[in-house]
Amino acid sequence: MKILVTGCAGFIGSHLAERLCEMGEDVIGVDCFTDYYPRAIKEANLEKLKGYKNFKFIEADLNEIDLGFLLKDIDAVFHQAAQAGVRASWGKSFEIYTRNNILATQKLLEAAKKSNLKKFIYASSSSVYGDAEKLPLKETDVPKPISPYGVSKLAAEHLCYLYWKNFNVPTVSLRYFTVYGPRQRPDMAFNKFIKAVLKGEEITVYGDGKQTRDFTFISDAIDANIAALESAPAGIVLNIGGGSRVFLIDAIKTIEKLIGRKAKIKYIEKQKGDVRDTLADTSSAKSLISYEPKVSLKEGLEKEISWIKELELK
Ligand code: NAD
Repeated sequence: MKILVTGCAGFIGSHLAERLCEMGEDVIGVDCFTDYYPRAIKEANLEKLKGYKNFKFIEADLNEIDLGFLLKDIDAVFHQAAQAGVRASWGKSFEIYTRNNILATQKLLEAAKKSNLKKFIYASSSSVYGDAEKLPLKETDVPKPISPYGVSKLAAEHLCYLYWKNFNVPTVSLRYFTVYGPRQRPDMAFNKFIKAVLKGEEITVYGDGKQTRDFTFISDAIDANIAALESAPAGIVLNIGGGSRVFLIDAIKTIEKLIGRKAKIKYIEKQKGDVRDTLADTSSAKSLISYEPKVSLKEGLEKEISWIKELELK
């Protein structure tokens, strides 16, 4: 198959492209290196991919490139490109979220309408749910995002649905629940916490640390994408969680144990847009695409810690 991965220089996109290359698919990666975090980190994410003969990279903004031409002969799209991050999505920055998350998705779907795609898989987010009235979160719950980022991810998810409904674009939306592991974005909690504990620096926890998250290890998120490509029916939305719900403070205790050093924690007020709890009901993903998360939090954190240690030594 010939597969397009958008946001290919990012955390999830780079892992996904690698897996597809290993599977022997022809992969085209596109990314415009947005300045949300440093370009050098994204260049490093692409390093291994450059060694694959079946990989081609195009530096381009989805809002500017000829998407009809880009999708020519493409069999499947994994749409990972987005402006990520909940806390940065307020105020004037919302324009960036609108452009990269909503408008870029709409343009890609318009182009997909005229192509022969077998699957269009969209990276959605647990942030579409907002503050849970009850857990676990089910795909049938009414989404009520509480951050502008969540609104932009939900808008794009709705666009995926309506392009399937009206034009048969075979879209599938995967709602990722806090993905972590090697190459995790530098603005994400585990990346910041691990670096700080390794250096003996202070970490900042928003709120009381008793917020809970369903953390998903990167290889599980990638497994879900591959399974969705192979077997997900078009037009659906699936939760992709890690299978366990953990208090943030307990995740920090696991990091302390694995590194062998106490964290210096500074508590500050909860940030607007942050949800209190997440826990995915993954029964639909299990029955429709046989998705089952395999990596425990301890095992996954060990891998992220090793990656950060290697980076710090460079
Ligand atoms: P990331 O920021 O590492 O990767 C996104 C990439 O998209 C970046 O490299 C960026 O340069 C690129 N990009 C943005 N706008 C673009 C445009 N207009 N044209 C071309 N490239 C563009 O983020 P990530 O953590 O890898 O997230 C990947 C996807 O998964 C995103 O859609 C995000 O919303 C979603 N998601 C991530 C998580 C998580 O925990 N990491 C959770 C839920 C959903």
